[in-house]
Amino acid sequence: MRGSLVNSLHVTPVPAFADNYIWLIHGLNDQGLNNHSRVVVVDPGDAQAVKQTLIQRRLTLAGILITHYHADHTGGVIELVEQWNVPVYGPANELIPGSPIKVSEGMEVRFEQLGLSFDIIDVPGHTEGHIAYLGHNALFCGDTLFSGGCGRLLGGTAPQLWQSLNRLSALPGETRVYCAHEYTVGNLMFACVAEPDNSAAVAYLENCQRLRAEDRPTLPSTIGNELNINPFLRVKNGTVKRSAEQHVGHALDSDLEIFTALREWKNHFRS
Ligand SMILES: [Zn+2]
Repeated sequence: MRGSLVNSLHVTPVPAFADNYIWLIHGLNDQGLNNHSRVVVVDPGDAQAVKQTLIQRRLTLAGILITHYHADHTGGVIELVEQWNVPVYGPANELIPGSPIKVSEGMEVRFEQLGLSFDIIDVPGHTEGHIAYLGHNALFCGDTLFSGGCGRLLGGTAPQLWQSLNRLSALPGETRVYCAHEYTVGNLMFACVAEPDNSAAVAYLENCQRLRAEDRPTLPSTIGNELNINPFLRVKNGTVKRSAEQHVGHALDSDLEIFTALREWKNHFRS
């Protein structure tokens, strides 16, 4: 399955709360051409938002994927399962409502009738048990990697998040990145302060501001794009290093130290 149909994955966002995206992954071979009416939902924090979209677009729920336990990613699980009775998959080491099938690194989740399969990657850092789903050239990474930024440390450690981001950034450049929040513009404002001479980040910020002004999502991103504009993936860049050192007021000797300083700096950054 992997490697085939890689460019045909159809994914649509359901906006929820202030800035969450609940992603709908449409089935690939749902009895006939261009019939994407059965969907798998990722991180349904809000059951109502999902239900409304499914009903409006005449879609049927086939499964639920959870990346981590936070309520804005899991709050709708029980209500959706009550209505559709579909399998729920979630991280092995976190407590998720609805008692999901526990999955972890190296395992695969398959939805045979939809022609979908996803590999599980452990990506601790934002939370300690956070996982990501990778398949069909698409990455569903919850609150681990954002466009232009990364998740806060809310349970995991900086070395864990650093290692997780390194793993994700080693994926093929064309991998589409479906993050769980619309944080891109705020992240890029920080990116442009951390690396003011990055013309790609400046141009991307302008583009994303235009999209947001039209109420359009800035996502998905790609791994290739993130490597060009995301300071958390660019600690080897001289400007990023110097900016981080300037912020903490002393030399930083390793990539991890630079990453940790950036993460701490971003926590207090106001554009
Ligand atoms: Zn979270």
